[in-house]
Amino acid sequence: MKTYTLPPLPYAYDALEPHISKQIMTLHHDKHHQGYVNGANAAMEKLDKARKGELQVDIKAILRDYGFNADGHILHSLFWPNMAPAGKGGGNPGGRLADQINSDFGSFDKFKAQFSDASKTVEGSGWAMLVYEPVSEQLIISQIEKHNLNHIAQSAVIIASDQWEHSWYLQYLNDRAKYVEAWWNVVNWSEADARLGKVVK
Ligand code: MN
Repeated sequence: MKTYTLPPLPYAYDALEPHISKQIMTLHHDKHHQGYVNGANAAMEKLDKARKGELQVDIKAILRDYGFNADGHILHSLFWPNMAPAGKGGGNPGGRLADQINSDFGSFDKFKAQFSDASKTVEGSGWAMLVYEPVSEQLIISQIEKHNLNHIAQSAVIIASDQWEHSWYLQYLNDRAKYVEAWWNVVNWSEADARLGKVVK
């Protein structure tokens, strides 16, 4: 049976300060992300036992549990390198991504305003995403509820921005807008550009 493992953060826990605190990063990575890894592995184990006839399962419940936890793990694995330490992140994108954003959104500022709106208005727990949708061959913004609802099939994640309260509440309390504003200071544009380069022909 194949299992998932928690990847290490690509920088120190305090590397995103003052925008995102060491306490948030430590809990978010070591507890929350680890929880999704454990949850996905537990669901995989149940599926494995069910195939061997060792366990009676509610297949719908397990697949829902698996989808939630596996997507939670995968999105967090994309989220950590979406950010970069102070001095290396933030600012404006370059490369192909800058051209594609200008072409699909009109300008970087228009993209940023729409992405911030999407971030601030996720209902409950979820994500704001920049994805490349290959059927219409364009970048679009999407909102994912929980980790897996409203997913757009085949789309490649260019930027995933975690809007679950665990990613900001300890530092920003109820002011999600302030977290969204601060988050732009740690975006890793070169990672985003590299992801786009892998999917655009
Ligand atoms: Mn999270």
